[in-house]
Order: sequence, then structure tokens, then C-alpha cells
Amino acid sequence: MSHRHGGRGHAHVGVSSSSDDSSDAETWVEWFCRQEGNEFFCEVDRRYIQDNFNLYGLREKIPNFKMCLDIILDKADIDQFDVDNNALDKNVQDLYGLIHARFILTKRGQDRMLRKFRDLHFGICPLLGCEATPVLPVGLHDSLDQSPAMVYCPRCRQVMLASHRTSPSGYDHEVELDGAYFGTTFPHLFLMQYPTLVPEPPNKVAKYVPRVFGFRVRDLRDSRSKRKSSTTSADRRKREHRAEKMA
Ligand SMILES: [Zn+2]
Repeated sequence: MSHRHGGRGHAHVGVSSSSDDSSDAETWVEWFCRQEGNEFFCEVDRRYIQDNFNLYGLREKIPNFKMCLDIILDKADIDQFDVDNNALDKNVQDLYGLIHARFILTKRGQDRMLRKFRDLHFGICPLLGCEATPVLPVGLHDSLDQSPAMVYCPRCRQVMLASHRTSPSGYDHEVELDGAYFGTTFPHLFLMQYPTLVPEPPNKVAKYVPRVFGFRVRDLRDSRSKRKSSTTSADRRKREHRAEKMA
């Protein structure tokens, strides 16, 4: 997936030729957030990105940090640099993602994610008993390249892979974002911030009985678990026997 800006009405870039550069040209952040596959991102405030305090520690994590920051803040265009564009694309996305993970822990960031949550941008829980409860993005790690973005259902409290199957909002592709763009804290802090959004536990759904041509099928795991339970009881007997000997 490429995040080339392509210079479509992109303001603030070097010499602006007057023809297609208008004052309402979208910013890089706006452009980035509306790309297919980026539905989980909210727009981070420009002022937040400009504050060095919020970028603390990211310089060491992102190669070409200054270039990436200039691109995000519309001070430079990706084509301006004599580097591998794909690698730079990834660096820019990673930098925005890590800033995003911090921003969505702030009040403004949470408000922005609340809007997306209500508009079902993160999708819904596929479990029957959860009755299409909206889910929230979450990472299993806070550092890059560890695991993909997942979704967390506040109703069944399960974490699952984010995919189009859980999204009623119209996109029909897998979500392939790094979990670190959302972080491990976000959904839980969000629900603490908005406790009225915490739903009741899932409905009890009638137990599904597997059948073939109308006949109940013996659970194929039964034989396996029986074997397992007989070994555990044998182990227990052995342990008891040993304990008796020691006594
Ligand atoms: Zn659920």
C-alpha cells in the first residue's frame, strides 16, 4: 500500500504553481486518513504534532525522522527527497502512527475516536451474542512491527483480527495496520473516559448442536479430552501416592 501524496492540490509544498493549488487544498494528514485501509486513523491535530514534547523518543525509532515530520506537516513532499520512496512511505506512516497512538490517549484524541466509534468506522463484533456491538482498535504491543492492529469488543471483551467482515461501514478489505499505531492502552482508557459506553455482557445464545443429515454428531474433541482427563487423573494419583510416601 502506498501513501504517496501525489501532489493533488497539496498546499505548502515548495514552489506552488497557482493553477491547482487553492487555499482549501487538503493537508497530508487529511489525505492520509482518507486512504483505503486507513479508516482506523483519526486526524491528529497539527498543533499536537508540532509540539516537541509529544514527539519525545520518536526520533530514535523512525529513520529519516526530520523528513517524515516535514512531510506530515506539509513542509515537504515525498518526491522531493532522493531516497527510496517505499521505505520513506513506511517511515512516514510509522511516525504518524506512533504520534497517533499518543494523541488518542488525550481528551481531544478520544473525542475524535468517539465519533469514529459511533459511526462504526472500527466495525462491529462478529459474535452472535454481542448483537453487532461496535469495537475499538487496539494493539497487542506498543512498539512497531510486533503485531497487527486488532479490534477489542467491550461486550465480550475479546480481541480479534480487524477485518472487513466486522465492518458494516462499507470497506471491503483487510485492515493491515501496525498495532503500535493504536497501542495497548487506548480502548481501556477510552471506556474509562466514557463509562456509559460499556455494554452489558453478551446475550446467552442457545447452544449450537452439530448435526449431519439431521443426526447429532459426536463431538470429535470428546475422545481427545477423555484421553487427556484420564492422564491427568493418573498424574494426580501418582502425585498423591508420592505425597503419601513422603509423609
Ligand atoms: Zn463481542
